[in-house]
Amino acid sequence: MKTIATISFLLFYLSSILGQQPHVSLKITRLTGEFYVFTTYNSYQGSMIPANGMYVVTDNGVVMFDTPWDTTQFQPLLDSIKNRHDKNVILCIATHFHEDRTGGLKYYTQKGIKTYTTTKTDELSKKRGMKRAEFLIAKDTVFTVGQYSFQTYFPGPGHAPDNIIIWFEKEKILYGGCLIKSANDSDLGNLSDANVKQYATTIRNVQAKCKSPRYIIPGHGNWTNTNSLDHTLQMAQQVNK
Ligand SMILES: [Zn+2]
Repeated sequence: MKTIATISFLLFYLSSILGQQPHVSLKITRLTGEFYVFTTYNSYQGSMIPANGMYVVTDNGVVMFDTPWDTTQFQPLLDSIKNRHDKNVILCIATHFHEDRTGGLKYYTQKGIKTYTTTKTDELSKKRGMKRAEFLIAKDTVFTVGQYSFQTYFPGPGHAPDNIIIWFEKEKILYGGCLIKSANDSDLGNLSDANVKQYATTIRNVQAKCKSPRYIIPGHGNWTNTNSLDHTLQMAQQVNK
């Protein structure tokens, strides 16, 4: 009892000095049907920033899109998935070379998960010392796993030279990664590897490819508002002026 009281006090004390509730390290939210968004946190320019990934539970196993940004959550995510769905992750695709997408590739490869990136992502990962996937795709590819099919699509450079999106055409789910900003974002975020000149054209390519998406998952922040794609386009047009 005394220990619990002490811990509670410490947590209360910590949250009051930080001015916020202590956040969870891994958040899993059901998107729709067998689709789930997972969120982990990492510090960027002095504040804790959430990063979204997604997974879908198929009859043949779980397919994961991007890895946790928080390196302490690679295994907890696998454990949570196993506990919740009694299934293993069998495939993982990272959507560009940055650490919030590729961080867990090596770990997951060692766990026997088939990891994928594009060859372009692999070249950049190699050059920049990021974790690399076991398998490479040279061009846009359709994957079918269990009852689900999705395609990878490279719409052009934007957030990064190699950013791809994932499109579930039948379910109308667009997994945008960091190319797409949330509807709440006030700017395009980290532009250190961005192509600001091409960004708007790239977003228009996504809009042409992915008609009437029902769900859009941005790399960071809120995914409940599908205005995120139009909003990203507007910001991309603005940044060029
Ligand atoms: Zn990102």
